Amino acid sequence: MKPTTLQLGHLRLQGFSQAGIETWFRVHPPGLAFEAGHGAPQVAGASDLFLPHGHLDHALGVPYVLSQRTRHQGKGTRIVCPSDVVEPLDGMIRATGALERTEYDYQIVGVAPGERVAVARDFEVESFATDHVVPSLGYHLVHRKHRLKEAYRGRPGPELARLRSEGVVTEDPVEELLLSYCGDTGAGVFDLEPRVFETQVLLLECTFLDASKRDSAARYKHLHFEDLAARAERFENRALVLHHLSRRHRVADLRRLVDERLPGLAPRVHLLGESDEEKR
Ligand SMILES: [Zn+2]
Ligand SMILES: [Zn+2]
Repeated sequence: MKPTTLQLGHLRLQGFSQAGIETWFRVHPPGLAFEAGHGAPQVAGASDLFLPHGHLDHALGVPYVLSQRTRHQGKGTRIVCPSDVVEPLDGMIRATGALERTEYDYQIVGVAPGERVAVARDFEVESFATDHVVPSLGYHLVHRKHRLKEAYRGRPGPELARLRSEGVVTEDPVEELLLSYCGDTGAGVFDLEPRVFETQVLLLECTFLDASKRDSAARYKHLHFEDLAARAERFENRALVLHHLSRRHRVADLRRLVDERLPGLAPRVHLLGESDEEKR
């Protein structure tokens, strides 16, 4: 499977994800990365890297990305991760830096659920609790906008400009959840963070498809297709990107299940590694 690029409204998403192999995503705007995989070149382009948890198919690439960015681009990197991950992650980075006799230019920011970091003008990332076997977080991409107050709608531009120059507040601040990334998680995430049903673009893992893996999904805290099917009516998202599929399954198997069992959702479901011809 090659990396997939999806244009979802104004957001461009690029990524690769296979359970136990590697997972990484880039999101433009604002250009941040979720996960590092094994250190994909695409991830090395990001100055902000959000790490949901420490399993190596997601985190092993962090030192490589820092090495590439420090040595070849001379650029610093901010890594945001769960607070409990900071120390072991920093230990891994220091060890690889010593191995290469290089001091990487980086900063690790540990966060708890509900904390926010600014990533660009008008963009913030808010972390939320997820349900995995190690400390884990998901991340919302929040866009802050200003909307004209009801009372001023339809007024001509020069009049609005005059009001503003007189100090009148003509706009209300509004926020929208552009995208939410859940990382590896069991079904507990739906109770921990119900806003995942409302976000515009939801990146959700779907590791297992077959009935024999129901127990494994619950034990290792991954999502099974049945976890999604049981909540099919609740997904209000404009787009749902399913990823982290087990190597036991083919993307076409997941597409067939989505079409058969989730007909109302199917047109909004995007699968990594699925070319347009395969899709329909
Ligand atoms: Zn994983
Ligand atoms: Zn994991």
